[in-house]
Amino acid sequence: MKFVLVEYEYRQKFEHIFQFFSNGLFFVDKHGIVLEMNAQMEEILQIDKNKVVGFNALELLDLFVNPFETKKAFVTQLIQFGKAELFSEIRTFLGEFKYIHVKVFKQEDTNLYLAEVHDESEKFHMKKRLNHTESLSTIGQLAASIAHEIRNPMTSLKGFTQLLQQTTNEDGKRYLAVINDEIKRMEEILTEFLEVSKPTNNKFEYFELKELISEVVNFMAPQALMKNIEIIITLTIDSICKILGDRNLMKQVFMNSIKNAIEAMPKGGNIFITIMYTGKKDVCIEIKDQGQGIDADQLDKIFDPFFTTKSGGTGLGLSHSSQVIKSHGGSIEVESEVEVGTSFKFILPLQHEF
Ligand code: ADP
Ligand code: MG
Repeated sequence: MKFVLVEYEYRQKFEHIFQFFSNGLFFVDKHGIVLEMNAQMEEILQIDKNKVVGFNALELLDLFVNPFETKKAFVTQLIQFGKAELFSEIRTFLGEFKYIHVKVFKQEDTNLYLAEVHDESEKFHMKKRLNHTESLSTIGQLAASIAHEIRNPMTSLKGFTQLLQQTTNEDGKRYLAVINDEIKRMEEILTEFLEVSKPTNNKFEYFELKELISEVVNFMAPQALMKNIEIIITLTIDSICKILGDRNLMKQVFMNSIKNAIEAMPKGGNIFITIMYTGKKDVCIEIKDQGQGIDADQLDKIFDPFFTTKSGGTGLGLSHSSQVIKSHGGSIEVESEVEVGTSFKFILPLQHEF
């Protein structure tokens, strides 16, 4: 009787440690089946343990971003030596990128494997941010901080021009309107510049692609209409097509592309937006205009920061877009014919929702 009680207490204590251990922990039996998982582990993988317990742990390896060889080496080492260790970037069940340190030990007496997982994302991101700062040249960093600093005096300039509007004569009002327009333009350049130099923090979520596109089109339609442009959407995909990504950044990409298309058609015309699957794993959003096109010798420059052919352009839209699409594992294809039109294809990987 007493023995049972001691065992019970021991078990409770153990359970407590297991559940509240600061690192992720899970047990796997000799067949590779996940037996138990603690709360911290659920948090790291962003999944309810009921969806994992009872399933093969090898499926968890699919979350790893590492090449196949590394995973194979990890499993081989584990079988051979009864312990193995790995640093890896994973994509959690909710699609967030995390950087983890995994240690697995075999417990000889019970034939169980215990895996300890430490989430080192914070450390990893810190390093990435540092790298980002290093990769922006010293001049680039300086420019970013100047851009920040310039904003405040500009706000006060704006305030004073507004005050002056009330006291000045007609000529003065006209000059002030020009000053105001120029201030607005400077603000636009600063906003876009700061957007581009900001490191992305991977705020990934699932969102409906069709919904996002119609939101963007609804927003841009009045601007298009004023220029005699109609936006025509064609869908060749299921009603539900979800993308995993940063919805806001993605919105900026399509907004900028439609804006570019509008700006390329001073005489009006149509913009065709087509959403289609390409292959099994990708979805393509094509934005095609009937505008002036892009000269062949400029085609490889359009993604460069500050490259613009417009008097009021910033040249930051496409460079930012290409960064965003890359960070989503996608790519951009451009085809253009002068005086005929341009097509931008944004190709993005489809993700399963768990
Ligand atoms: P911006 O629009 O401020 O000029 P972007 O990076 O968005 O900056 O675009 C860079 C350049 O690429 C534009 O100035 C233009 O020359 C070219 N471009 C982009 N989209 C189109 C398009 N749809 N038709 C023609 N030219 C385009
Ligand atoms: Mg643009």
